[in-house]
Amino acid sequence: MKRPEYAKAAVLREFGQPLAVEEVQVPRELEAGALLVKIEVCSVCGTDVHLAHGALAIKVNLPVILGHEMVGRVIEIGPHANIDSMGQQVKVGDRVIWAHSYCGHCFQCTQAKQPYLCINKRMYMYESMEKHPFLMGGFAEYGYVLPTSGRVKVPDDVDSTLASLSSCAFRSVMNAFDQIGDISPSDTVVIQGAGPLGILATGVARIRGANKVITVGAPEQRLSLATDFGADEVLSVTGMDAAARLERVRELTQGRGGDIVFDFSGVPGAFAEGMDLVRSGGRYMVAGQTSKGKIEFQPSLITLKNVHLQGSISADISHYHKALQFISRHQSSLPFGRMLTNRYGLGTINEALAGMSAGHEIKPLVLPWGDN
Ligand SMILES: [Zn+2]
Ligand SMILES: [Zn+2]
Repeated sequence: MKRPEYAKAAVLREFGQPLAVEEVQVPRELEAGALLVKIEVCSVCGTDVHLAHGALAIKVNLPVILGHEMVGRVIEIGPHANIDSMGQQVKVGDRVIWAHSYCGHCFQCTQAKQPYLCINKRMYMYESMEKHPFLMGGFAEYGYVLPTSGRVKVPDDVDSTLASLSSCAFRSVMNAFDQIGDISPSDTVVIQGAGPLGILATGVARIRGANKVITVGAPEQRLSLATDFGADEVLSVTGMDAAARLERVRELTQGRGGDIVFDFSGVPGAFAEGMDLVRSGGRYMVAGQTSKGKIEFQPSLITLKNVHLQGSISADISHYHKALQFISRHQSSLPFGRMLTNRYGLGTINEALAGMSAGHEIKPLVLPWGDN
């Protein structure tokens, strides 16, 4: 296939302003290790909305191509890029998902072995589309996989619409579970948040063998999906107050509270509630906070409850692989497809973001080439 010169892409030039579809340059050459892909689908993430509103606590170099949960079909392979991070051959026509770019030689990449904290990392959706390699966002016809980005082929039995979940939401969930450690068959796991991450986490906690899974969130439609992903009990954040939720969690745990609590809510205030919901000596994984929001908090609770408090941001390529494997293995028993809501093209991208912002959507899909 002849390399295209331009790609249509949804560009954000100013925070708070709608996206505009623009023609963005396609790199003239592929560096060694790089891939050029046609974007098959890019699901919409809450982070896209927060970034567009200027609410993220992460630096953004405008103008950017929005979108970062993409699945690409390889159309050109740079020198030495014919193998993925799992050792599988990559050919033109294969589907891949890929991680942010980690340098592989800084302290975080090598000694700490936490590449998602790389001090030289380059992130899709956060880099200006005016600088090489231009195609750093998902709401675009084409995408560029940087040489230092881990990449993994999508298994044949995983649809691209589901694979897109693995390129942000699900890989983040996998990393959070890895970092918080084992789940014992006697553990009660509390999940804060019934958005895509909370629902996926509910399924993972169930499959990884939790005794009880309690998911906290809203609205009703999302809580019912959490039930279908394996929640034993769901607690509404609109239908009951925090005191009633705490009481119910204690009732379900012989008065102790959750052994492991995951925060995937994205709401700063949920942190204080999570500190109440976790039992003394329990573990609290805060993986859903990316905003600049602040709360008042009593640090002595961490000491007095002897809580193991842990954060988790993004993921490395092993988590992308695990997420894809999880979908492949469990798609017949967990209703992943029901998380996917409406489909949009680049021309209706602002409607997709508005729907996400208003909570009408769980996972809208953007198909830059139309719905086929
Ligand atoms: Zn590094
Ligand atoms: Zn995301």
